[in-house]
Amino acid sequence: GLLPGGDEIAELVGLAHARYAEDGAGAVADYIPILAEADPSWFGLSLVGVDGRSASAGDIDVAFSIQSISKAFVFALVCEELGHEAIHDVVGVNNTGLAFNSVVAVELNGGSPMNSMVNAGAIATTALVPAADADERWQRIRDGLSRFAGRPLALDGEVYRSESFSNHRNQALARLLQSYDRLAIDPVEAVDIYTRQCSLAVTAADLAVMGATLAAGGTNPLTGDRVISVETSRDTLALLASCGMYERSGEWLFEIGLPAKSGVSGGIVAIAPGKGAVGTFSPPLDPAGNSVRGQRACAYLSRALGLNLFASA
Ligand code: GLN
Repeated sequence: GLLPGGDEIAELVGLAHARYAEDGAGAVADYIPILAEADPSWFGLSLVGVDGRSASAGDIDVAFSIQSISKAFVFALVCEELGHEAIHDVVGVNNTGLAFNSVVAVELNGGSPMNSMVNAGAIATTALVPAADADERWQRIRDGLSRFAGRPLALDGEVYRSESFSNHRNQALARLLQSYDRLAIDPVEAVDIYTRQCSLAVTAADLAVMGATLAAGGTNPLTGDRVISVETSRDTLALLASCGMYERSGEWLFEIGLPAKSGVSGGIVAIAPGKGAVGTFSPPLDPAGNSVRGQRACAYLSRALGLNLFASA
C-alpha cells in the first residue's frame, strides 16, 4: 500500500525529528575545507509520497551541497542514455567494501571503478554523459538533476572552489582510471564536472522530491515530468541498495531495508519503491561518511511506516 493518510505522516516526521534533534553524535566532514563550517545542530527531515503529499520538520530550508547524492541521479541519467548492459559492463555494480575515495579498490580490481556510487566510479560515470563538450555535459547534468528536484538547482560557488582546491585524491583517481583506459574523457575535465555536480545546492525537501521521483518509477510526483524510465528507476534503486551507503550498505540494508544514498555534507535520501522517499540533512557523520541523525531518523521512519522492503508483513 501507499503511505498512511491523514495527519499520520506529519506526526511521524515530527516525532522522528524531535527524537534525534538533541543527538549530537558524529563529526562534520573537514577534508573539503568549507564543509567544516557547517552547523552541527542543523537537522532537516522531509517525506514526499509518490502521490505528491509531503511532510517535513526542522531545517528543511537550509541549502547544502548535494555531494555524493548526485552520484545516484547522474547514474540514472547515464543509465537511461546508455542502458542496463553498458553500465554493468563499463562501470560495474558491485560494492567495493572500501571507503568511497579508495584508490586501493581500483587497484585490487584490475582498474575497474567497481560501481557508480564511489568516487572512482562516479567520475567514470560522469565522463559517460553524452555531450559534445564540457559545457554541454555540465548543462545536461544540472538540468537532469533539476528535473528530479522539480526546480532549477544552482551551483554553490564557494563549495565548488573549496573542493576544486582540495580534490587531489579525486584527481589521482581519474588519472589512475585513465592509465587503465577506463575514462571516456580527459581526466581534468571529468573531475571538474564531477566537482560541480557535487556542489549543486539542495535542501532536505529537494532530496525527498528527487527520491520520490525514483520511488514513482521516474515521474516527478510534483511536476508530472517523466525524467527517466521505469526500468532505469529500478536499476538505480538496485544499485543504491548494494552500494548507496558505501561500505556500510550491508548494515544499512539490514537495519533499514531501503535503497538510499548519502553525501559528506550530511544529506541522505532513502527511497521506498512505489511509496515515497525521505530526505534528511544533518552534518555530523559516522566514520564511513554517513549522517548519524539521518540514519537514525530513517531507521525510525522505516519502522514506523512499515517501509522495510524485506518485511513480509
Ligand atoms: N565531493 C565529495 C568527494 O569527492 C563527495 C564525497 C561524498 O559525499 N562521500 O570527496
